[in-house]
Amino acid sequence: MPGPSKLVVGVDVPWVMSWSGEAIIGAAPCRTVGGRLALMQASDPGSGKPQYSKNHLVRQRLTIARMLCPMCGEPTKENDRWTQIAARRCAGQLRARGGQVRADIADDRVMIDAGSIAPLHRRCVDRSMKYCPHLRASDDVMVMRFPREWLVLPLLVKSETGDGVAVAFLQLCGITQTIDRRWRTETTA
Ligand SMILES: [Zn+2]
Repeated sequence: MPGPSKLVVGVDVPWVMSWSGEAIIGAAPCRTVGGRLALMQASDPGSGKPQYSKNHLVRQRLTIARMLCPMCGEPTKENDRWTQIAARRCAGQLRARGGQVRADIADDRVMIDAGSIAPLHRRCVDRSMKYCPHLRASDDVMVMRFPREWLVLPLLVKSETGDGVAVAFLQLCGITQTIDRRWRTETTA
């Protein structure tokens, strides 16, 4: 049995991160995705070693579904939601990759693809930049406000036992008011 860690969840280790003592326990209906089938994982943060490259399945979905800060686990308010590593993509690009983008969003609308990372509090952004050399060194880091509107795209995995699918993680895309003219040119050419 893994023992308790001296690292403090939400302070030394992001709240959303998985620990080696938290086993993945198969698929079940999950409240994080409105009762859909989703991959489940035991919840025992602080048990064993932090898995620095892995998000906890259920906590990750909770951060997106409830707009909880992945660093501290507390809710973020609309005026204090920041993203650090987000790619600008057009809605059409997301659609082309199989993302279920709402029909009222035109292909040329610019989206802020935050991937699996929910927006953080500004104070948590600043703390993570201070303590994480990887983030500080990365060229991809650009701190910006997260848009007021967003889409949640479920990332699905095939069931090992049947032909069903289950939600693994949730992907978050902010919706901006910006239109990408290049995309419009490309798609109409
Ligand atoms: Zn926070």
